[in-house]
Amino acid sequence: MQRPVPDSAPGQVWAHTGQSFPAQDYDVVVLGAGRMGTACALFLRQLVPTRSLLLVEEGGLPNEDGATLLSPGVWTTLDVPESRWPEAHWTRTQLSADTWDITFQPRPVVDLHATAGEARIPSRDLTLDPEVVDVAALPWATVDTRAATYRPGAVALATAQAAIRAGADLLLNTRAHLGGDGRVVLERLTVTNTHQIVVHETHHVRAGTIVVALGAHGSHAAEHDLGTHTAHARAYRQAPRVNWPSTDASPVLRAGGVTLRPQHGGYVLVPAIHHRDPAGYVPTGGRLTGVPTGLRRETLEDLVAALDVLPVLGTEALESGRSVSDVPGAWFALPGGTPAGLPQHEQVAPGVHLLLGGPHADTLGLSTAYDLAATIAGVAERPWDRP
Ligand code: ADP
Repeated sequence: MQRPVPDSAPGQVWAHTGQSFPAQDYDVVVLGAGRMGTACALFLRQLVPTRSLLLVEEGGLPNEDGATLLSPGVWTTLDVPESRWPEAHWTRTQLSADTWDITFQPRPVVDLHATAGEARIPSRDLTLDPEVVDVAALPWATVDTRAATYRPGAVALATAQAAIRAGADLLLNTRAHLGGDGRVVLERLTVTNTHQIVVHETHHVRAGTIVVALGAHGSHAAEHDLGTHTAHARAYRQAPRVNWPSTDASPVLRAGGVTLRPQHGGYVLVPAIHHRDPAGYVPTGGRLTGVPTGLRRETLEDLVAALDVLPVLGTEALESGRSVSDVPGAWFALPGGTPAGLPQHEQVAPGVHLLLGGPHADTLGLSTAYDLAATIAGVAERPWDRP
């Protein structure tokens, strides 16, 4: 049975297995309600309201384990090639508009360097906290004055709510698999009284178009369920908290290969992603001078390398924990298999599109989700192409 297309009525939400799900067929099914899936669902409802749409999520909204909640939420064009700046600026306009009622905080990104270079200014001209960063060691800085910070989880929530208001249905606590031939297998999950997550019931629905927006699991799902090959990979990133005071005026600092992002009156340390993590890698904590910590070895090495230039990392302010579960961390997709990979979408089978955000989704995620929605809708024009 095909879900009738709602005429501007809000969509339905099934949050738990007590609510019976009719398992109708849909024109479009979007798998994964991270920021990429929710944005694509919203734009599809806006561009082709005549097509019914179901958004499916394994956890809640937004899921605690997803990349969306752990993304730094720093909009900056510093890492984006100039050819993609029109898209980046469109994304900025969307995020800073009142539409979704999210906090979008203009805040410069200061990228510190040891040597002079094009467009670099003396870092002593900037008011930087000397106990956080040693400007004598890094006398030059590139500043992105247009940069801003926001919470990607808030964007996912706001776009999901807007998509539902625009007629999208949402099925939560449901693990999805690609069944091939336009089928999606939906396993509705429930928690037993011994706290085990089990499959309560399984449904099969058909969809003319499937968007795979499963974050770090997306390319694996395409490869495992459809037998295709992709060039994409994934990486685990930890983001420990640094309890050193920051204010609304504190810039985002990048030095020695790590980023300090002001948040909630302190900082979050965002290490660089160096490479893909091998299949089967399980994050485990390393040891610092013999003492177990929650930071994995790679992150510890980054910290030690940055200590000279970011003295705050050598203080008690860094929350390194005792085991991995103490430190916030998440799996990210690496589009194209490299940390520099920009958000992208790719058709992996007839009617099946893989949508990947990854490390640069703060700046280009929304526009990439729009681009896929427009591709599915058959719309040639992109708003950022207009003069
Ligand atoms: P992105 O930034 O690409 O949106 P996220 O990791 O934040 O990445 O979002 C991916 C979402 O997909 C997460 O909320 C995750 O819970 C969900 N997800 C992952 N695997 C499945 C699955 N098999 N079925 C349904 N949802 C899934």
